[in-house]
Amino acid sequence: MLSVVIPSYNEEENILNTAEVIAGVLVGAKIDYELIFVDDGSKDSTWDKIEKAHEINFKSRGVRLSRNFGKEGAIFAGLEASTGDCCCVIDCDLQHPPQVIPKMYELWQNGAEVVEGKKSSRGHENKLYRSLSQMFYGLIQSASKIDMANTSDFKLLDKRVVDAILSLPERITFFRALSGWVGFKSETVYYEVQERAYGSRKWTVKMLLGYAIRNLSSFTGAPLYISTILGIAVILTSLVLMILSLCGVSLGSFNMGIIVLMLIGGGILECLGIGCYYISRIYEEIKHRPRYIVSKTIDTDKNTIHNGNGEQCD
Ligand code: UDP
Ligand code: MG
Repeated sequence: MLSVVIPSYNEEENILNTAEVIAGVLVGAKIDYELIFVDDGSKDSTWDKIEKAHEINFKSRGVRLSRNFGKEGAIFAGLEASTGDCCCVIDCDLQHPPQVIPKMYELWQNGAEVVEGKKSSRGHENKLYRSLSQMFYGLIQSASKIDMANTSDFKLLDKRVVDAILSLPERITFFRALSGWVGFKSETVYYEVQERAYGSRKWTVKMLLGYAIRNLSSFTGAPLYISTILGIAVILTSLVLMILSLCGVSLGSFNMGIIVLMLIGGGILECLGIGCYYISRIYEEIKHRPRYIVSKTIDTDKNTIHNGNGEQCD
């Protein structure tokens, strides 16, 4: 059975239509399913519409969050509530085309444990937003070594991958990257971003900025190394200036006093850098991420293969 998790914030215009469209696609493809709409603290009648969707189709369920926790919180609430053998996360506004789900499901049936939805075209986006988002994913990609180009939250995960993600103890999550971080056998499906079915975008500039800073810092401690790098640069520059000055080269306004001050400044930056290095170690430790996640084991004595959670598989 496939669980479809649909984070929804102020989506009153979309719920009933989205429930009908996704159910139609899945019934057409003969896939057993449940729809889980997660109302992320909406201020409009989203929850009433989710109740109505359940009256129309009992396979459509709902989870209502006490306030707006953001899309990440809504996705995790939906994953926790899911009971399927695999789980697909999809936006409520049909910008992720549900027609792609049967293809994802087929790849899962053929052994893929993570099916990543990647944007083949990003739809109508303004240029500034596109460049900033490319810069953000470039930074995350270089920090995490996970291919983040054109990724989205539209993906299908095997139950074991869902359990692995839910078992991560950190509070600040970045679902899009974590599904790659946990590993497992992965396939990619490309899709074209569609126009929003109804309503308007729910993210404000403040929400997007917060999202970028939170997620960057949850995948890289690189900014903590800035003072180390600056310190090395200042020390090297002052040493070169000192040698030049000792060799009698005229350095204009750079006298020995300034050069010594630069050396001291560089030394202070280095000491700060050492402190930051330990902070970055503490930061990695307090995330309490598991050191590894087991996908399968081979039991030599019984000659059987086990899934990571201990159950025997074919
Ligand atoms: N969403 C959410 N909580 C929020 C903001 C957005 O659950 O705080 C949901 C929203 O209802 C939609 C999905 O996240 O299903 C994507 O939001 P949106 O369409 O506004 O973003 P975009 O498609 O522009 O990235
Ligand atoms: Mg959208």
